[in-house]
Amino acid sequence: MSLVDPRTIVLLTGLLAGMLAMVLLILRRSYPPTVRGLGEWAAAVLLFFVTGPLFAVGGQATENLRISIANAVLMSGIYLSYVGTQRFFGVTPKLVQGWLLIAAVILVLAWFALVDYSYAVRLAITSALQTYLFCLHSWLVYRHGIHTFPRLMLTGVLVSAAALQVIRYSASLINPQMVGILDNTPIQVFYVTTYPFIMLLFIISTILLASERLREELERMSNHDPLTGLLNRRAFEEQTQREWARRKRQPQALSALAFDLDHFKSINDTYGHAIGDVVLVHTARVLRDMARETDIVARLGGEEFVTVMPGTTEDQASAVAERIRALLAGEPVMTPNGQSLRITTSIGLATANAGDVDIHAVLQRADKALYEAKKAGRNRVCLARRQL
Ligand code: GH3
Ligand code: MG
Ligand code: MG
Repeated sequence: MSLVDPRTIVLLTGLLAGMLAMVLLILRRSYPPTVRGLGEWAAAVLLFFVTGPLFAVGGQATENLRISIANAVLMSGIYLSYVGTQRFFGVTPKLVQGWLLIAAVILVLAWFALVDYSYAVRLAITSALQTYLFCLHSWLVYRHGIHTFPRLMLTGVLVSAAALQVIRYSASLINPQMVGILDNTPIQVFYVTTYPFIMLLFIISTILLASERLREELERMSNHDPLTGLLNRRAFEEQTQREWARRKRQPQALSALAFDLDHFKSINDTYGHAIGDVVLVHTARVLRDMARETDIVARLGGEEFVTVMPGTTEDQASAVAERIRALLAGEPVMTPNGQSLRITTSIGLATANAGDVDIHAVLQRADKALYEAKKAGRNRVCLARRQL
């Protein structure tokens, strides 16, 4: 005789899932829409919530119909949870194929519950589908990287869920006298007590995953300029300080370019602020495209940009600056209303030397050189005079 009644556990699991679905729904309301998948996860958990009572209560008369509905709801929930994770990772779900598969399985299960009753066939089908979906689901998470705890946890939970299905099905082959989900056999009790834990851990993983995404979003927002997506002044300061500290341990060349668009005020005055913004986005894209991965590219404010290039000598930086200048001057900016307008940029270049106490010394010289470029007629690159 078992200490726990599977019926009670199934019922309690359902209630637990219901409460956690509320948590997911609250997160969905309060998190920015860029954290995707929460709606599908909440819907999936709500289906799990319905599944519990469906499996656990009700009279004998409608038993087979009830089990069919419970299976349909459970399979749909498991599929929906996968769709939620797909959305979370920005993968477009193949909903038609997915739902067709689920619908087909539900119909076959109903056949073996209502027309040609067979628990063994139903068990084989539900175990196979669940194992397949859990494997697919864990592969999806694994593919997107398991470098953080929530991702690792979710992968682990899904692999365990797949393993549990395999264990339960294998046990049913060894012990064929099992006749129903609420059997009081040790393996069935093990199954219905483990399943809730796995479900609970699944929901916790999704909540952790969503919080992790929120934190990443907030971090991104606090470090980047919303218009151009380049680093803002705060993040620029942080990254250049770090680079400077690294350079102290491993001395190498370092150059900085300071950019200021020419006559930008007149672009705003002639075409409007919105077109001015398009020009800024265009400039940022060119700067980013021309930068190496290790370069630090930022918008310091208005139409002023800066690129810090570790490991780049004055000659190399000068060639890069000239390429950027020529590219910006040569390629007209296309506006959303079909206008094409020409812009030019003045660029100041400075290279770090032994006397510089911090990165600001280099940036100041780059700024001075930029001022020289403006004075000399704009649309040009000026090099800061080396301080000897
Ligand atoms: P110069 O060649 O001497 O650099 O002339 P300029 O007109 O570019 O002069 P200045 O650098 O003083 O002009 C900066 C202008 O940039 C002023 C402001 O209207 C505009 N500006 C600042 N921030 C933004 C922004 O976010 N969007 C837009 N569209 N314009 C901005
Ligand atoms: Mg300016
Ligand atoms: Mg300007």
